[in-house]
Amino acid sequence: MSDIDRTTTDFRATVLGAPRIGPNRELKRATEAYWAGRIDREALLVQAGDLRRDDLTRLRDSGLDSVPVNTFSFYDQVLDTIVLLGALPHRYDGIADDLDRYFAAARGVQSVTAMEMTKWFDTNYHYIVPEISPDTTFSLHPEKAVAELVEATELGVPARPVIIGPITFLLLSKAVDGADAPISRLDELIPLYADLLGQLKAAGAQWVQIDEPALATDVTPDAAGLAARVYGPLGDSTDRPALLVAGYFGDLGDALGALAATGIDGVAVDLVRGDVDRVVASTGLAKKLLVAGVVNGRNIWRTDLDRASATLATLLGSARTVAVSTSCSLLHVPYTIAAEDGLDETLRPWLAFGSEKVAEVVTLSRALTEGRDAVTEELAEAADAIAARRADPRVHDQGIRGRVADIVAEGIARGPAADRRRQQDERLGLPVLPTTTIGSYPQTSEIRLARAALRSGEIDEAEYTRRMRGEVESVIRLQEELGLDVLVHGEPERNDMVQYFAEQLDGFAATHNGWVQSYGSRCVRPPILFGDVSRPRPMTVEWATYAQALTPKPVKGMLTGPVTILAWSFVRDDQPLADTANQIALAIRDETVDLQDAGIGIIQVDEPALRELLPLRAADQAAYLAWAVDAFRLSTSGVADATQIHTHLCYSEFGEVITAIADLDADVTSIEAARSKMEVLDDLNAIGFGNSVGPGVYDIHSPRVPSQDEIVESLRAALNAVPVERLWVNPDCGLKTRKPDEVRESLAHVVAATERVRMSLA
Ligand code: GLN
Ligand code: ZN
Repeated sequence: MSDIDRTTTDFRATVLGAPRIGPNRELKRATEAYWAGRIDREALLVQAGDLRRDDLTRLRDSGLDSVPVNTFSFYDQVLDTIVLLGALPHRYDGIADDLDRYFAAARGVQSVTAMEMTKWFDTNYHYIVPEISPDTTFSLHPEKAVAELVEATELGVPARPVIIGPITFLLLSKAVDGADAPISRLDELIPLYADLLGQLKAAGAQWVQIDEPALATDVTPDAAGLAARVYGPLGDSTDRPALLVAGYFGDLGDALGALAATGIDGVAVDLVRGDVDRVVASTGLAKKLLVAGVVNGRNIWRTDLDRASATLATLLGSARTVAVSTSCSLLHVPYTIAAEDGLDETLRPWLAFGSEKVAEVVTLSRALTEGRDAVTEELAEAADAIAARRADPRVHDQGIRGRVADIVAEGIARGPAADRRRQQDERLGLPVLPTTTIGSYPQTSEIRLARAALRSGEIDEAEYTRRMRGEVESVIRLQEELGLDVLVHGEPERNDMVQYFAEQLDGFAATHNGWVQSYGSRCVRPPILFGDVSRPRPMTVEWATYAQALTPKPVKGMLTGPVTILAWSFVRDDQPLADTANQIALAIRDETVDLQDAGIGIIQVDEPALRELLPLRAADQAAYLAWAVDAFRLSTSGVADATQIHTHLCYSEFGEVITAIADLDADVTSIEAARSKMEVLDDLNAIGFGNSVGPGVYDIHSPRVPSQDEIVESLRAALNAVPVERLWVNPDCGLKTRKPDEVRESLAHVVAATERVRMSLA
């Protein structure tokens, strides 16, 4: 092994990964057509290949001198790694075709269930969770990585295969069937990676990038030790290309020194979240390529090129070569701002999507190698845009800031919980074990057709509203017929629970084509939160009061909470998240007050993303939870004690956020529990949770209709943990993805089971 041999191949401008779904979601359309049987395997492979080559050509032509490959995926890069390492669970063995086997693992087929999916670090991208059982064996299947390298090389692209590293792979895996912690299998993977490197070298790779984001987080307590254990031997292996290890989504901490001490050839660091001083002080980097992630790969703001080039300049003496890059893969941003029509034109220069970020990397790299004079025009243009953004009155509205400060100063606590309960019981007069649902009802084809017709201009707003009111009425009648106690309007008018509010709030901009992959073929268009947030007019009051007028039963108003709106948007980077959260909270608070004044007695503020935004470093978590809880309380403390506040969280593994859930101090909290057999209630009791709780008794993630007996059993189990006066009965989550027939039958069982339990109590 010799560093010197490889210096000739150092590159200077790259990105850590790129979007792959297609500028117009071509890959989504093609895979969905394949799943539906409309195109065959051959056609899918051809379309995917065309798309890949277009993406590669674009990256090459934009001036990058090293281009990531093997970042394409038919579904997910972690699932690709499972296949690479021969670790697909045996339950898929019976499916002969490799592509169908892959999709079966991703999505399930009639005969076999899908693998689990969860969020990729603190992003909104979901990966397939590897399962490691005692009989998992590993074997190398490098065909995809090699083929994509060869394909790119043939196009004249300076290709750099990207592979998820063994540490991250195992730390993200789950042990099944009584297996030990997956990380205990680390030593088995090292020779496979060594073999893979050899094969990539033989196929012509100059550089290979191994992604280890887990090293930049607290997913593991021993990042430095693990880094040395893997990259010591891989660095020493001689039959390999130059090796770059990428640690992103945070600061590498001690792992940086550990990596620098190995024989690897380069380290990619996230300098948007990471600590520049640590990199400068890391003497071990002197003989390595430092890939400096100064362009934010996961937000959409134009980079402050002056600042970034100053940062790069401070790094110059610290490494053999400094290359410019994005902080992480561009998977998390849309392809290009050029595809946006209809955007507020003052915003356009403030933004940089995928292609624009690539251009920024190239500019910064030229500033570094040729001097800033070579790119004066680009620097000036960026400086102008940044100055315009800073000066825009919409980003500092003193009225909004003053209102937030005043309310926070007055206090954001409600009256004592027991007083609230008494007043609410009197006002609402609900039976014991009140039954309710989480908000949405099935998004029927009529709803989708109406939305499409509105978009195409076939129908006008008035006709659309009329149709949605029809949906609300049928959902109210259904709930009355079923005998539910607290009704909802069903959310037919909401396509997405965040976008719906973002479209109505000042300070947000929506995109037309800003698609980002969420999982598999699913894409979302996160709104852009660019300015101070306020609510020009009520957003949901008409829907709630329309529904309430149809029934004597209480209708629950339905809002999305500030943390969730923040989590599912592209947020401004020019002030602390906590400040932005408080502004959204103020807007939601205004809405709760208007709902109350319009006669709505129960209001639910959903916070499904509370846990998702939890910082990846333990040291940052307490501060986050403090402001997140405060934002929720700001949003819900404007109403009288007699108004009942609900919240909803769609998970049951509370872990580090459990005390925060209690601190939200909602009167009623609905949570997921159907799969976890009510054990979550013990966790809540253990921390002294004293408000009402609605553990889900109907698993809405499955098309299965739960039987009455099962629900009775769940309720009895719940009653062992929670006194009857604090227990609510509801499904796990909203019903929008379920079929109307399943919902009707399941809810009928929920009501009948509740009735049986009530009788047995009497
Ligand atoms: N109220 C929303 C619904 O029922 C909640 C969705 C969620 O928790 N993600 O759809
Ligand atoms: Zn939910």
